[in-house]
Amino acid sequence: MTSEAFPIPIPFNIPHLTMREADYMADCLARGHLAGNGHYTKLCSALLSNLYGSEVLLTHSCTAALEMAALLLRLQPDDEVIMPSFTFSSTANAVALTGATVVFADSEPRTMNIDPDSLEAALSPRTKAVLVVHYAGVACDMDRIMAFCEKNGLHLVEDAAQALGATYKGRLLGTFGALGTLSFHETKNITCGEGGALIVNDSGLVDRAHIIQEKGTNRRSFLNGLVDKYSWVDIGSSYLPSEILAAFLYAQLERHEEITNKRLDIWNAYDYALRPHAAEHGFITPDVPQECRHNGHIYHLIMPDAATRDDFIAHMRSIGITTPFHFVPLHAAPAAERYSRSPGALPVVETLSARLVRLPLYPSLAEHQHRVTEAVLEFFQSRSNS
Ligand SMILES: *Cc1c(COP(=O)(O)O)cnc(C)c1O
Repeated sequence: MTSEAFPIPIPFNIPHLTMREADYMADCLARGHLAGNGHYTKLCSALLSNLYGSEVLLTHSCTAALEMAALLLRLQPDDEVIMPSFTFSSTANAVALTGATVVFADSEPRTMNIDPDSLEAALSPRTKAVLVVHYAGVACDMDRIMAFCEKNGLHLVEDAAQALGATYKGRLLGTFGALGTLSFHETKNITCGEGGALIVNDSGLVDRAHIIQEKGTNRRSFLNGLVDKYSWVDIGSSYLPSEILAAFLYAQLERHEEITNKRLDIWNAYDYALRPHAAEHGFITPDVPQECRHNGHIYHLIMPDAATRDDFIAHMRSIGITTPFHFVPLHAAPAAERYSRSPGALPVVETLSARLVRLPLYPSLAEHQHRVTEAVLEFFQSRSNS
């Protein structure tokens, strides 16, 4: 009775701990090196570099890695960068901070990823790069996007914040562009609270990436004995995470496949329970293209309309289940007027973002997951009965 009347709240996210985090952090304290680029930073970078087959630099956030990417491309105030409107503010800020202009493109309705068909309209003589976002760890249409970049001589950068371990035609996301970025924020699959990484696929950018990461100094060359003192050689900032966070992160990265598989189990259980009822109730479940292997980052529903989405969120909240939505399209956000332009209306982002809702998804949800799926179906059944 009590559990029926007062069910345990189901949050949207609970960070998954491997239980080695505290041990590695204690070891880090014992080693006495707390600033960046120590033992655990090197372990994390080596693990990621090995996974991606490119040099990977740890950062204190994906936001920081995106800023590094913008500096590495030497974006200037006259430049433009095409990106989806359906993303987080960090993607746009990285470009806006350099003085360059953000140009927003529409999304494909199937994946919410940037629509290759909307790239041409966004192109101008000032376009310097395309910055794609792999929403929910599902790959963008990389064949067409890469062809567009090649044809027009544009740099490609991938915001793979949500995409650790996900692939397109068997190739890891974050390895297609000159640069790719990862997030280890608390809400991402693998976390250290706040963290990120920059994947440097263009080997010609590696040296400068280290300089930008280390406050514009050649400290790395100094530590490697290549110069006898280190000095200010370029622009840069402070983009290294502390060793304490790297120690935490290493415990997670060691288990990244296991954590991803647990999330995929939850994702698949939602899909098994909800997909068969989607058509009858007018909602849409995720439709992952065959060439994409995702990483169970997000399970979202597209509701029949915006009002139903808002009713759904309120109803779920009333029974203790948190189901957030995102993203509010950037092209319609208050800062858009100053820092961006849009080649025209972006109808897919505008309509679908108002209908999208995310279901709770974390490994320890398993034993309570049936409550979420039952609540989703009951919500629709009670509406069709009334
Ligand atoms: C989470 C996220 C970011 C920001 O990541 P931080 O590590 O919090 O800076 C950027 N882009 C996308 C698409 C994200 O999902």
